[in-house]
Amino acid sequence: MKQDNCIFCKIISGEIPSFTIFEDEQFKVILDVAPAAKGHALIIPRRHYANLYELPEDMAADAMRLARRMMTTMTQKLGCDGFNIVQNNGEVAGQTVFHFHMHLIPRYHNDGEILKYIAGEPDREELEQIRRIIAE
Ligand code: AMP
Ligand code: ZN
Repeated sequence: MKQDNCIFCKIISGEIPSFTIFEDEQFKVILDVAPAAKGHALIIPRRHYANLYELPEDMAADAMRLARRMMTTMTQKLGCDGFNIVQNNGEVAGQTVFHFHMHLIPRYHNDGEILKYIAGEPDREELEQIRRIIAE
């Protein structure tokens, strides 16, 4: 399941060094080399899946369980004030490494606007239209 030229597959195999903070049979958790905040880390499955669409459902559940555990430990050890879990799928969504991963981003008071989007202002009709497309 290793994909040639995948930077995260190379990190998993040890071909590229990383700052590992946790690992088990399924996942490796490493520090992001270009962190959005102090302690920014990535949960990476050992097996190559491009994104959450491809990740098997049981592994998605395991990844979220691990995210919760890591978040709890990191909050205690780093003394951060909050936490973002971020997961990008597809280039348009900001994904740059096409091997599934979850960002663990500790947040600190006054650390600035790390993740920000402009809130839309749809009317009720638009919301009902999109609700129908998705739900029916
Ligand atoms: P994404 O934009 O969601 O695909 O996130 C990819 C992340 O991987 C970015 O935050 C990068 O800083 C990080 N990254 C890329 N190469 C490495 C590396 N060799 N070691 C650790 N993090 C990396
Ligand atoms: Zn890979």
